[in-house]
Order: sequence, then structure tokens, then C-alpha cells
Amino acid sequence: MLTEKPTILVTGGAGYIGSHAVLALLRAGYEVVILDNLVYGHRDLVETVLKAELVVGDTSDRSLLDRLFQSRKIAAVMHFSAYAYVGESVTDPAKYYRNNVLGTLTLLEAMLAASVNKFVFSSTCATYGVPEVIPIPEEHPQNPINPYGASKLMVERVLCDFDVAYDFKSVIFRYFNAAGADPGGLLGEDHNPETHLIPLVLQTALGKRESISVFGTDYPTPDGTCIRDYIHVNDLADAHVLGLEYLLKGGDSEVFNLGNGNGFSVREVIDTAKHVTGADIQVTECERRPGDPPVLIGSSDKARKILGWQPQYSSLKEIITHAWQWHKQRHK
Ligand code: UDP
Repeated sequence: MLTEKPTILVTGGAGYIGSHAVLALLRAGYEVVILDNLVYGHRDLVETVLKAELVVGDTSDRSLLDRLFQSRKIAAVMHFSAYAYVGESVTDPAKYYRNNVLGTLTLLEAMLAASVNKFVFSSTCATYGVPEVIPIPEEHPQNPINPYGASKLMVERVLCDFDVAYDFKSVIFRYFNAAGADPGGLLGEDHNPETHLIPLVLQTALGKRESISVFGTDYPTPDGTCIRDYIHVNDLADAHVLGLEYLLKGGDSEVFNLGNGNGFSVREVIDTAKHVTGADIQVTECERRPGDPPVLIGSSDKARKILGWQPQYSSLKEIITHAWQWHKQRHK
């Protein structure tokens, strides 16, 4: 007998990580409705690749949300939509608290009204601030050093209180550095403006930029540049499907780090990109970027143990190769 898989509402499903999660959900047989305001999301990817239903709108639009929940039988929500530029969050915190906190609260209240109580939430390692131990475990103190991280931590707290008061169940994922692209070349990273290291290095390899700036060469790391834990976006997407299934089976609220457990320096990223692209990528050494901890590496043992998550793409070369395939065809 065929059992029909439930419908999942994915906010931010036209964005980078959200679109990869939608693809993973569709491949696992779920029905998906995407809610995206298309400020940063890409309609063309939804229409040509995902072919899922797209509702254009905002998580702060309560009447739109009520209509959405009333007109469909939604079993759970995956919430990706958020502003995520750390620097901008420092100069315009109001924008971040309004969208990331108030927008999410509106969504959560609409879920309560519709008796939908399963929620997968995109949080971040930026909630930890400057780590005291490496690799960072989930129980590490959370002291964010920018409004972006603070906005995500506030939602984590809301979710904790909602569980106690309303029996509202959530899986919170704290991502490390999302990177790479769908290995089939269908989807990838396309931010505007772009601020992330790997896409900027690849744009330099494509000749779209003169050089890549290295922010800080005097960190207390072996080559003086910052070390980050780059996790393949398809591995993140797989974790979301596992987290959803954990909740659908009646799992309790949980928090999981999602990282590779391996750290790579900025220079190692650039050298690997030179190797993958065959391009001579020019480097400009610059001052440190404010708010960058020297090393961020996560321990994801808990996600492996409880969710059975097994990242498939732990090599930096593979991550950059997939990103390169995408960039070549997207920005030719
Ligand atoms: N970085 C850099 N040059 C750039 C962009 C980033 O040197 O043009 C560095 C940044 O300082 C950090 C690392 O690369 O140490 C990863 O930065 P990214 O913005 O990709 O992710 P974040 O760690 O901020 O989430």
C-alpha cells in the first residue's frame, strides 16, 4: 500500500541552503510548499529546477500564513528565511531583529493557531561567539558577538519556552560554514552581495574579480589565517530531512551542530581553489575583519549519534569542485 508523505512548508526555500533542502525533501518523496519573499531567493531555480509550489511573501505576514495553513495540510515547517550578513547586522541591527526574530515569532504563532507543532530551525555557530574549546560541542556557552548571532539565539530561546508551554517540538541546527553546491550542478550559492570566502575565490578564478582579500594574516593559527569548518550544503540538506523525520516520529526537541569536524584555513581554501580551477588566483593581504574568531570548528557527534547523520563530502577539494561546477555555469 502506498503511504503518502506529508506536506512540508519551507520558508526561504528559494535561497542557498533552503533550495538544497527542498531538493532533498522532494527526492525523499515529500510534498513541499515554499514561502519566500524573493529578496535574496531565486525564482528561476524554483521554477526550473525544484518545480515546487512557490508562495511569494513574508513570514511576518500573519494573514498570508493563516491562509497558507488553512488551505493545506502542513505537517511541519523548515525555517530557512533570515537575513544572514554579519557585518550588516552590526550596522543595521533593527533589520535583523525585525526579520529574524519578529518574523519568526509571527510564523510560530501562526503555527500554534493551526496546531502545527513541528519545526526545523536554521541556527548558527555564530550563537557561540568566541569559542572556549575546539571542537565546539552543543553545550558550549552561547555569547554571540554580533546581532545576527544574537537574533538566532533569541529564537532558540523562544523555541525552548514554546516547548515547555505549548508542547511545540523543534530541531535546531547550528550550522558551521555552509559551502559547495549540488553535485549534479542543479543548484548552488548565488548571493548578492556576495561576502563568503569560497564564492569570492571562485569569482576571482573566473576573472570577475581582480583578487581575493585575505582578512588577517596574524591570527594564532599555523599559517596566520582564520580556520573554519566548511560543511557541504548537500550534507546540511540531508541532516534537515533526518531532523524532520525525527520530529515526525515523535522525537523531542533537540539541538545539533552541523559541521565537518575539520578545519581549513583561508590560505588552504585559496590553494585548493587554485588546484581545482587551474587559475592563478591573486591574493591581497588585508586587515582582520571585525568579529572573526580565529578558529571555528564544530563537533557534530550528536547529530551522527541521534539522527544517524553521515556527511558524504568531507574533503575540501570535493566541496570546492562542486562549487566550481556551479559557478562556471551560473556566471559564464
Ligand atoms: N574571508 C576572507 N576574505 C573574504 C571573505 C572571507 O579572508 O573575502 C575569511 C573570513 O575572514 C573568515 C573566512 O574567510 O575567516 C570565512 O568567511 P565567510 O564570510 O565565508 O564565512 P563566516 O565564517 O563569516 O561565516
